[in-house]
Amino acid sequence: MSFETLGLHPSILRAIAETGYTTPTAVQQQAIPAAIEGRDLLVSSQTGSGKTAAFMLPALHKLAAAAAAEGTAAPSNRTPNQERQAARARGERPRFQAAKPKMLVLTPTRELALQVTTATDKYSAYSRRLKAVSILGGMPYPKQMQLLSRNPEILVATPGRLIDHMESGKINFSELQILVLDEADRMLDMGFIEDIEKIVAATPETRQTMLFSATLDGVVGNMARRITTEPLVIQI
Ligand code: AMP
Repeated sequence: MSFETLGLHPSILRAIAETGYTTPTAVQQQAIPAAIEGRDLLVSSQTGSGKTAAFMLPALHKLAAAAAAEGTAAPSNRTPNQERQAARARGERPRFQAAKPKMLVLTPTRELALQVTTATDKYSAYSRRLKAVSILGGMPYPKQMQLLSRNPEILVATPGRLIDHMESGKINFSELQILVLDEADRMLDMGFIEDIEKIVAATPETRQTMLFSATLDGVVGNMARRITTEPLVIQI
């Protein structure tokens, strides 16, 4: 099987070829077509299985298709900075505009969030309009405000810091289409369950949810089934 047969957008296939991947891994072969169809996924797989590309490639494919369908001229495509400039030009006082990401990836640690963001930058090298940023505990707030002001399509975040920005109105999830929980079992072990519940509750019920975890038993399994709809279960 090749990446071409999985139905990915040419701009993503080009980026994958440059990354040097030739054959999709087992988790990618199962996850990518189902995710492109829009199904929720519960995936039990380990680090090293290629799970990042398993959720990010179909997500980029869908976001690229949606961006192309929206066209380029819609005023809603202005970044918050452009909105502020337009407000000033109209003689109004500019209001702060919350970032409205289309995709959110939650990870247990800063290191994993940075790895996911780096991988996303590679996979989206030819997807002009898709930007990813990491929102992490320990990063200075002004830097994060600057990143959010660009209204990135994709946020990769650790739960605690994300909640701070949500509660202060800097991020709004009303346009979120895709939610990924990466290493969900580790996030629960680290005590993030309440934060995760709060974040999930702030996203539209129509979202697509993909959860990755070493195990799908016990507490993780319970949460997984609560936040997904008729998920495809993949055990690698
Ligand atoms: P992950 O499980 O997402 O942490 O990925 C583990 C490693 O496998 C990373 O270094 C990826 O760049 C690499 N990788 C992911 N998918 C493929 C693939 N289809 N072919 C070769 N390497 C891959």
